[in-house]
Order: sequence, then structure tokens, then C-alpha cells
Amino acid sequence: MLSNTRQRLYDVFPKLYQRFGERISIAGCGIAGERGYCNSGVVFNDNANARAAIQDAAVWFSVGSKRLKFIIIDREGAPGTAIADTTLFDQGRKKLLDALQTHAVTKPKGALNTYGTDVLINILNEAGGLPTRNFTSGRFEGAGKIAGEAVFAGNKERLGKEVYNHACSPGCVIQCSNTYYGKDGKEIVSCLEYESAWSLGANCAIDDLDDIAELVRLCNAYGLDTIETGLPSGWRWPPA
Ligand code: SF4
Repeated sequence: MLSNTRQRLYDVFPKLYQRFGERISIAGCGIAGERGYCNSGVVFNDNANARAAIQDAAVWFSVGSKRLKFIIIDREGAPGTAIADTTLFDQGRKKLLDALQTHAVTKPKGALNTYGTDVLINILNEAGGLPTRNFTSGRFEGAGKIAGEAVFAGNKERLGKEVYNHACSPGCVIQCSNTYYGKDGKEIVSCLEYESAWSLGANCAIDDLDDIAELVRLCNAYGLDTIETGLPSGWRWPPA
């Protein structure tokens, strides 16, 4: 049964934790999916937060229209997957772990752990491939203000300390999931990804991270996909 459609997923997720325990994973359909919006998305939990994780114009059809509101997965007591050769598995796991923890992009305090996927903004901008003003340009003059480096610097200024990213999924060693803090030092949203930054930022000519973070937060609250929401917002710049 669909719940009160006015409820934001941020308000509903804590109730699900109360009911099913803290160790659950949640996939949720927001008001956008319930109403059949083509820019709806499935929203997953990240610790105690909601984050849009799937961009899929068919979400409303596959989830909302079936009146499926949430999928709850509880890993408590799960049998796990049997490993055929634990020695070989551990060798491979160590090799992969060593590679990830020594590479500049994936190591602790490396590019992803420090700046998140939003580190791509400056890189793509330099390459002329940053979607800007409805793809009418590949370069955005405000790129530096919405890049992962700016998120990291802003958090440091507002919290008075360096804040490195966290794992959105248990066991992830890359830990690229950032948290964006507002002027009052309180969290606005987690995570602010590269895709959201270009879609709701460069694509709409918005270079204010506070505004972009608030837009991402609203998308997560109502089950809107950030890319699919930012794209039509940029249609005011028609292709030449
Ligand atoms: S699972 Fe790890 S690498 Fe993947 S998005 Fe989450 S924190 Fe980043």
C-alpha cells in the first residue's frame, strides 16, 4: 500500500529503521514514482540518509505503478555466498585491495576519498566535456566553484577540519561518498555526486554549491533522479 504521498523519504526512512532495525538496506519509491513522473528514481539509504541511486525513466512504471513503495533487505542471519576456494579468494582479494589502497585515485585520502566523484568536474571541464547549459558548451566558467575540491574546501572552512569521505555500502574500501555541510555546519545532503553537480549545476548555469546541494536534497526527498531533473531544466538553452 502506498503511504502518505506528502511524506518525504528523509522522514520515512527513520521510521523504517525503527520498525525493521538499523542493519537494513532500503530501496524506496518517492512521491515522483507514485505519481508516474518520468524523471523519478529509486532512492537508497546511505547510513541514515536517503540518496538517489538509480536514474531510470521506467522506475515509475516498474515500481510506482505496481504500488510498491519500499524494498527492505535485512542482512541479519543471511547465509552469505559459499567460497569454493578460500585460499585463492584471499589471494585475489589481497591483490585487489593492495591495488586500490595504493592508487592515487582510490587510496585513502586519494582523489575519490577526498573529493568524491565530483572530482571529475574540473577534469571534464579542462577536457571540454563538461555538460554545460544544455550541452551547448563543454566548458563552464563556474566549474571550480562546484567541483569536489570546492566541496572539500567548503566543508573544511565550515567545520574547521578536513572531512574525508565515507563508504555508502558496508565494506567498501574506496569510500568516495561525500557529505555536504551547510553554513550552520549541519549536513545538507550525502552524497553530492559528479552527475548531480553537472546536471543541476553546470547544465543549469548554477555555480552555487549550497543551491545545488539543496536541489539534490529535494530530489532525494521526493524520489526524483538528479540527472533527469537537471536535464530538462537546462532546455532554456536550445541547441544551436
Ligand atoms: S560503494 Fe564505495 S566506491 Fe561505490 S559509490 Fe559507495 S563509497 Fe563510492
